[in-house]
Amino acid sequence: MENENSEFDVIVIGAGINGAGIARDAAMRGLSVLLVDKSDIGGGTSSWSTRLIHGGLRYLEHGELGLVRESLREREALLRVAPHLVRPLPLLIPVYKHARRGLWTIRAGMIAYDALSLNKSLPNHRMLSPAQTLRVVPALEPEGLRGAAVYSDAQVEFAERLVLENVLSAVEHGATLITYSRVDKLLVENTKICGIEFTNDTGGETRVARGTILINAAGPWVDQVLKSDSGTSPRLIGGTKGSHIIVGPFAGAPDTAIYVEAETDGRPFFIIPWNSKYLIGTTDIRYDGDLDQVHIETVEINYLLQETNRVLPRAKLTREQILFAYSGVRPLPFTTDADGQRITRRHFIRSHTEQDNLFSIVGGKITTYRSLAEQAVDAVFKKLGRDSPECKTVRDPLPGAATPNFSDFCWSFKHRSSLSPATNDRLLRIYGTRAASIADLVQEDQSLAEVFDRETGAIAAEIVFAFEHEFAKTLSDCLLRRTMVGLNSSCGLNAVDAAGKIVQRYLGWFEAGITREIAAYRLEINARFRVPPLPD
Ligand SMILES: Cc1cc2nc3c(=O)[nH]c(=O)nc-3n(C[C@H](O)[C@H](O)[C@H](O)COP(=O)(O)OP(=O)(O)OC[C@H]3O[C@@H](n4cnc5c(N)ncnc54)[C@H](O)[C@@H]3O)c2cc1C
Repeated sequence: MENENSEFDVIVIGAGINGAGIARDAAMRGLSVLLVDKSDIGGGTSSWSTRLIHGGLRYLEHGELGLVRESLREREALLRVAPHLVRPLPLLIPVYKHARRGLWTIRAGMIAYDALSLNKSLPNHRMLSPAQTLRVVPALEPEGLRGAAVYSDAQVEFAERLVLENVLSAVEHGATLITYSRVDKLLVENTKICGIEFTNDTGGETRVARGTILINAAGPWVDQVLKSDSGTSPRLIGGTKGSHIIVGPFAGAPDTAIYVEAETDGRPFFIIPWNSKYLIGTTDIRYDGDLDQVHIETVEINYLLQETNRVLPRAKLTREQILFAYSGVRPLPFTTDADGQRITRRHFIRSHTEQDNLFSIVGGKITTYRSLAEQAVDAVFKKLGRDSPECKTVRDPLPGAATPNFSDFCWSFKHRSSLSPATNDRLLRIYGTRAASIADLVQEDQSLAEVFDRETGAIAAEIVFAFEHEFAKTLSDCLLRRTMVGLNSSCGLNAVDAAGKIVQRYLGWFEAGITREIAAYRLEINARFRVPPLPD
């Protein structure tokens, strides 16, 4: 930050997908922006989702046509502006005899889904007979199978990088980023919020930043940020916890993502091919616990295993086969409705009446972050009493897609690169056009082509790039939210020592610092991703 007295047009609290998207849009429209987060970019809920960019078929049941239409429009926009991160995903919905949603209900939902996404680039749905269904997923339970629907949505394999790329673009457009700094207090002058007080996580010093408009995009922590004001705000967030388990390829594993109704509670859940593994989830449980300590529970593990084994009987998945698990809290609007599934997934940009230059973001999905950001920045301009320049995020590509034609870029990158074909594919899949900058590092120093994680094929240059060009500050930032090595089968535990050596060799860290970082990484993985032991 330039100095204590600099005044920003907008201060955004929280660098999750929503805060990152708002910071980018605001900076692109010429506002001076400060983006501040208590941890790393994308270190909150945005890392713990099902990673779908989807219309939300299930929201049709609750009559949320507007939300589905908006989500489907945004799905198209993201396929266009982030083709390296957001890719089409075919899904199959098998329908069984005693299911709550029969074939006609599914067919009607599919017709509505297609109608709400006219002019889309993805194919319309198809209905399949039982025999056709079993040809697509031969290991499905055949007993009681009435048929299936096949439709298309999209997947953001590494949502962490979608958040990061929004921040990279925000900073390119002049935004200031401060990570590992917790906002402790909203500063008030003459009944108006005029800035924030925040504490640096490592140094412990407290600093002040002044801003005209404040946007509280702290996800499930929104109420905690507001408490640091006068403490009188009504509760805005009523989060529900959702957990996923991750397993390797298993007997009868499908090539297509499956979206199927659970027998236990009728709630649909996903079995999705993801990152050379399978992502299975999710649950939906009211959560009022510690937001910084969210873990999967045995009851959730049993539910996900049992339901997967029911629909894919050859799988016979056990707890021992789970590579890791993760949980997050959806920042849903607070209601007294006991049924978490019925809470709307719409977002609200809440303008605080008592502090009219403060907005809080409630709800939302990764899918709709761009439109949420557009609406939030429109509201900022209105509040500032200024005419807004055009919002360009619907067509301007994210940094990793900054090329007139992404397929042509991939083709020429592969033909010019001196790296192995596997490394080329990996770099393009994770960094898009930014792969060229990593290849340049290798060009300057061939030793940076060294593979430091055999499973993912990640190379040393990626670590240097993460610290020097992508705002990584810790090994955890680097492995979990930049190189994505932390989402390999061992959560990066088999690569962290090698990563530490690379940091020491190329970035000149002291050995003691690296030892501390490696220990901190091990602790974090154990706390975040571990499957809890069975109770005695
Ligand atoms: C189980 C589950 C599955 C989901 N699946 C999908 C899906 O498939 N598709 C989809 O579109 N959406 C999905 N979602 C929803 C989506 O993940 C969230 O709505 C979205 O990530 C919320 O983003 P956010 O930026 O609002 O919050 P977050 O990502 O939580 O970001 C908030 C940030 O604020 C920071 N912060 C908090 N307090 C402070 C403070 N005092 N000072 C500074 N910084 C602070 C945090 O560190 C954090 O980085 C899912 C959510 C869950 C939990």
